[in-house]
Amino acid sequence: MDFVEEVCSDNTVRQYIKGKFLGKGGFAKCYEFSFGEQLYASKIIGKSTLTRSRTRQKLMSEIKIHKSLQHQNIVGFHKYFEDDENVYILLELCTNQTLNELLKRRKRLTELEVQCYLMQILKALSYLHKHKVIHRDLKLGNLFLSDKMEIKLGDFGLASQLEFEGERKHTICGTPNYIAPEILESKYGHSFEVDIWSFGVIAYTLLIGKPPFETNDVKKTYRRIKMNAYQFPEHIIISDEAKSLISQILVIDPSKRLTLDEIKNHEFFKGLIPELLPLSTLTCPPSSQ
Ligand code: ADP
Repeated sequence: MDFVEEVCSDNTVRQYIKGKFLGKGGFAKCYEFSFGEQLYASKIIGKSTLTRSRTRQKLMSEIKIHKSLQHQNIVGFHKYFEDDENVYILLELCTNQTLNELLKRRKRLTELEVQCYLMQILKALSYLHKHKVIHRDLKLGNLFLSDKMEIKLGDFGLASQLEFEGERKHTICGTPNYIAPEILESKYGHSFEVDIWSFGVIAYTLLIGKPPFETNDVKKTYRRIKMNAYQFPEHIIISDEAKSLISQILVIDPSKRLTLDEIKNHEFFKGLIPELLPLSTLTCPPSSQ
């Protein structure tokens, strides 16, 4: 068995059992860690990858922001520590992968499921924005599912906490398919509305089965985003309410985009929406009783 030791501030040592490999990201590997009955997801970052002070700064910013957040729909941050070789970040373990794997299995989701997931994403975003944090990399692969099928937003590697009202950010970041047009046209800077754009891309992708601006070439995708060139394919039936919601979010001018409150009150979310979905929906659509 593989162990990792944490030397605590009072010089006691905690031994974690390093278990199953969970996945690999940009510069972290993720493993299941256990301490007694407690299970965690541990992001392991080799110190050899942190030689540039910029990379180290970025990791510290991710930790600082994530540590300050506590919400039912955000991956819980437990603690971080280091040994000679690595930095370890212990996070709430999400046992049912992300919406990315779910959509690959299911192709697309029913409107009821999309309503349920989007509502939870809205709660996470309202909390973040209230705390002046912009996520900036909202995408299916960063939306984890807990053992109870709750949505947990994770990966604060690109997040930014604004310091003053009306501050604009100028760094170009995000993931091609989900990136907002004002990030690509960086003259005026960007703010919270970039997460709302990505929310719109997520809504479209879950209902249609592929992202609205996807092409085989990043430059072409960016051109489509800047022209807002997307369509609802005729062969996939979605409600007028869903189309109305998406088309009022995927709006080039960020000031004309729906706000989080307007989205919550949109007719797409009228009617009974389940708090959580059954585990069976990981592989099959919910039965329509
Ligand atoms: P990236 O660098 O791609 O943003 P991360 O470093 O955050 O990814 O995570 C790498 C992989 O580890 C993820 O794709 C996922 O498979 C897994 N993972 C990350 N966080 C968790 C978690 N809280 N629970 C379960 N698995 C996780």
